[in-house]
Amino acid sequence: MSKYEAVIGLEVHIQVRTETKMFCSCPNKYGEPPNTLVCPVCMGYPGVLPTPNKEAIMRTVAAGVMCSCQIAEFSKFDRKSYFYPDMPKNYQISQYDLPFCSNGRIHIYGKGFSGAEMADKYIGLTRIHLEEDVAKLTHFANCSGVDYNRAGVPLMECVSEPDMRTADEAYAYLTALKQIMQYAGISDCDMEKGQMRCDVNVSIRLVGAEKFGTKIEIKNLNSFRSIHRSLEYEIWRQEKVLEEGGKLTQETRGWHDDRNETYLMRSKESAHDYRYFPEPDLMPITLTPEQIEEIRLKLPELPETTRDRFVRDYDLTPYDAHVLTLEKTVSEYFDNGAKLVKTPKIMANWIISELLRELAKSETAITDCRITPEKLAGLVKLIEDNTISGKIAKDVFVEMFNLGKDAKTVVDEKGLVQVTDSSAIETFVVQAIEMNPAQVEQYRSGKTMVLQFFVGQVMKLSKGKANPQLVVELLKSKLDS
Ligand code: ADP
Ligand code: ZN
Ligand code: MG
Repeated sequence: MSKYEAVIGLEVHIQVRTETKMFCSCPNKYGEPPNTLVCPVCMGYPGVLPTPNKEAIMRTVAAGVMCSCQIAEFSKFDRKSYFYPDMPKNYQISQYDLPFCSNGRIHIYGKGFSGAEMADKYIGLTRIHLEEDVAKLTHFANCSGVDYNRAGVPLMECVSEPDMRTADEAYAYLTALKQIMQYAGISDCDMEKGQMRCDVNVSIRLVGAEKFGTKIEIKNLNSFRSIHRSLEYEIWRQEKVLEEGGKLTQETRGWHDDRNETYLMRSKESAHDYRYFPEPDLMPITLTPEQIEEIRLKLPELPETTRDRFVRDYDLTPYDAHVLTLEKTVSEYFDNGAKLVKTPKIMANWIISELLRELAKSETAITDCRITPEKLAGLVKLIEDNTISGKIAKDVFVEMFNLGKDAKTVVDEKGLVQVTDSSAIETFVVQAIEMNPAQVEQYRSGKTMVLQFFVGQVMKLSKGKANPQLVVELLKSKLDS
């Protein structure tokens, strides 16, 4: 146990999914040739006026509602001044003192938050504000390129409270935030496309201390994994500095993914003064309680609510329910299938251990899967009523996955119906016993473990079709007599 404890707060930028950019009618689209989705507004030409994108504001409010935020009935945009090639106007339209959303919270669930067990925790969300994204810079050997296609894309900034204590919690927070945005269709949060970007703030303090330590910010992290690793590294580095009698200073650090370490980018002295002031070209935004309520009514159930419902209604463990609710498409799939079967738990197991694995292997989305929830329910029913064994079901599943057939059709075509007829099984049992006198001897001398061997033999003779419970019963009665 370390005598230090980490304190972590995250600032996450998320692009809002909209048709057009935040203040002009250029398409909000990724992957087009550079500088083809631009106009005088997003290029910052003089004399043009911004027009706010209502869809982006509604989605930001939706994000706030999903995160249990207070939604501002009165808010405004502000100018944040800075001078850099990614910003054609030399200021960014952002929000300063009156963001759309504040005082929310995000539910996280994971391992080791308070020991080794899986646990729940809430992380405070300070605010979500809306701003415009900036251009993307690409650095070449002798020059840099600027792509303004991204300039002006609606961008939310989600600032957390310094409530996280470990790299695992930060990872779980990012997972939960992404999950919420995807559930509500606010953003795809595809990090490879830059739709979700994160700055990390981390300090350490002695366990039990109340006052926070000196905060260090890590920038330019482009995957959850590098965020996790940079946090572990930085916590280790800060402890080492203090243990060696050094002092930490407030600074911004970068992350070398290949070297697996952070490096100094700039110290506090070079901090910006953004000279915020209300954006004079835009009216303040007012939202009525009715408008906010309208947005709320259209939103889906929160992932944590779905998880709890699965535990309650379908008798799942919290962990299984958690896995099934990580993605909305998966939770809908399960929900649709579970309603059709007697034991949803079996349905859950098949999705978690077989379906998700096969989908990942073949890089198929669950929505494109040949096995529909109804078809998987068909397979589960055949297991429930003992038509086939779990083992045979695996072969049936493969056939269904590859060819899209019904479970029943596969079972009929291949003659896989489980043998539950005692006299048929008895024939195999007698055969197995006659073929293996040495093992019979062992069994009768008290080594009852060899029963498993006989079960295996009978299953082999029946080509896997014998009902395993009946096999055990019949074997015992024959061997014990
Ligand atoms: P700044 O003024 O430098 O932007 P803020 O107070 O706005 O700092 O906080 C930015 C982020 O840093 C937030 O996510 C917040 O939770 C986090 N944070 C603030 N203080 C600390 C600290 N001492 N250690 C770790 N994170 C912190
Ligand atoms: Zn434009
Ligand atoms: Mg700040």
